[in-house]
Amino acid sequence: MIFKFCPMCGKKLDEKYSWDEGGVPYCKHDNIMFFDTPRPCIVVAIIKGDEILLLKQSYIFKNSRVLVSGYVGNNETAEDAVYREVKEETGLEIKDVKYLGSDYVKDKEILMLTFMAKYLDGEIEKSDEVEGIGWAKIEDALCEMTEDEIGKRVVRKMLSEIGYDGENAYRCEGNSCQLRPQ
Ligand SMILES: [Zn+2]
Repeated sequence: MIFKFCPMCGKKLDEKYSWDEGGVPYCKHDNIMFFDTPRPCIVVAIIKGDEILLLKQSYIFKNSRVLVSGYVGNNETAEDAVYREVKEETGLEIKDVKYLGSDYVKDKEILMLTFMAKYLDGEIEKSDEVEGIGWAKIEDALCEMTEDEIGKRVVRKMLSEIGYDGENAYRCEGNSCQLRPQ
C-alpha cells in the first residue's frame, strides 16, 4: 500500500530517499518512512495421523475448504501467530511447527508464510469466524480445496514432507471431482 498522507498525523507525506528503495513516502512530523511492504500472514496445515484439519469459511472461498490462516500481529513472531491462530480458530494445541516457505497473494498485498504442524491436544472448539471445521482424510484435501491455490501448494509441500508416495491425493488435480463440496 503506497501512502499519500500520514496515517498517524494526517499530513501530506513528502518523499525521502532511501538507499535501497529510492523515494519513499515520509512524514517529517513523525519522522517515519512508509515503505510499500506486504502484510505478513500465516497459513498452517495441521495433521493428525492420516487426517488434516480443514475449515469452511465462505467469505474466503465459496466452494472450497481452507487451512487455518491469519495475520501476524505486532509483538509476535510468525510461529507465535501460528500457535495463536490455531488456538483461536479451532481450540486445538499443536506441536512440531515447521516452516514450509513463503508465497505471495496477488492483488492483496499479503506475504503468506506457510507452515505445517502436528495435532497435540484438545477438542475442536469452533470460533465464530469459522462456519465449519473438521478432520478430513489427507488424501481428500486437494479435492476439497479446489479454489484455494495457496492452500493447495501448502498441502503439496506437506505431502512431500511426510513422505507421501501415493497418487490418490493428487487425483483431483486439473480435473473435476465428485468429492468437491457443493
Ligand atoms: Zn505524521
